Amino acid sequence: MTLQRSWVASANDAESLFPLNNLPYGVFSIDGGERKLGVAIGDQILDIAAVADTLPIESCLLADPRGWNAVMEQGIAVWSALRAALQNLLGEGACPNDDALYAQASATMHLPFTVSEFTDFYSGRHHATNVGTMFRGPENALPANWLHIPIGYNGRASSVIVSGQPVRRPWGQLKRAHEELPRWAPSRRFDIELEMGAIVGRASSGPLSVDDAYSHIFGYVLLNDWSARDIQAWEYQPLGPFQAKATATSISPWIVTAEALMPFRCATPVREQNLLPHLQDTTPMLYDIDLQVSMNSHVISRTNYREMYFSAAQQLAHHTTSGCPMRVGDLLGSGTISGPARENRGSLLELSWGGTEPFYLADGAQRSFIEDGDVLALHGAAQGDGYKIGFGSCTAETLPALKDPFGQT
Ligand code: MN
Repeated sequence: MTLQRSWVASANDAESLFPLNNLPYGVFSIDGGERKLGVAIGDQILDIAAVADTLPIESCLLADPRGWNAVMEQGIAVWSALRAALQNLLGEGACPNDDALYAQASATMHLPFTVSEFTDFYSGRHHATNVGTMFRGPENALPANWLHIPIGYNGRASSVIVSGQPVRRPWGQLKRAHEELPRWAPSRRFDIELEMGAIVGRASSGPLSVDDAYSHIFGYVLLNDWSARDIQAWEYQPLGPFQAKATATSISPWIVTAEALMPFRCATPVREQNLLPHLQDTTPMLYDIDLQVSMNSHVISRTNYREMYFSAAQQLAHHTTSGCPMRVGDLLGSGTISGPARENRGSLLELSWGGTEPFYLADGAQRSFIEDGDVLALHGAAQGDGYKIGFGSCTAETLPALKDPFGQT
């Protein structure tokens, strides 16, 4: 696959995140106006409602106040037909239609779809090994179940926000190991988790095979699972994370479709323990996507989505094994994606090794966890032959904690 050329000139630049090969889906507004469904092309957004009469889909579906949910509900044949029609419409040979384009620089982006439910997994082996080593020692780093099932927990859809919205440091109940009683205080170990989010595009009501689960995934976004480590350390046993993860989860504004990512498929790693047959994959279902984290515009980590131990398809298949119904618009977080080296760690907890080894930004500033006002950004792109499939950014400024909301301190 090479660059597919568009009549939108900026889309033909080899460094563009949004060439004709990509065509990710978002929701945008201009100057506080109504929200519109849009497709990114170069540095522009195609207002899809403005070209609805040329597309193989009912126009009312392109004005869904929920975002792209109605399009997803049409199923995989419509997803494919819509993408093909958009590639024709925006391709080099087509008649240019500047009236339907808006500059991305002038647009405000919104959540691209209404999140039905949010589940977060823990399927990055380097991350799980690092965190387990810090908390339990290297002998017991991976729990006994880890190599056999994608471990996850049911999170909150209500706190999923789009890139660009700020995130406020939470208050919570904290207790250090040497303290006898817990305290009520703002988190001092507020952190990020670099993840990919997979979006379920088809509903299901019973167990899915891994192959079926793969075909149910509509697309992917970057995902930052904000995590208050001090709240987490006190609350997480025995039922897992709760308030530590409930402040916010940020996602990037453009849904990159599974179809656009097809040329970048790669296999999950060789297993040291065979998976049970219902979780085995038969074709490559991960993707080669370069990822990076920056803090105040300094890159602090680089890794790749192919580091995952379980694919989103395996996670979704496992999610349905109990008969759990899945909805269109369900969001699945991959788990923190760290790589083998220190510079590949996808959380500050790992980068600072639990706060014991502070790290330095390029301007000399020292960090272990987030300081008020820090701007955290995730970026991601798959590198093709002379083109990229970009995700854009998943960015948020962090705000100081409110005054004690209960007036107790
Ligand atoms: Mn997470």
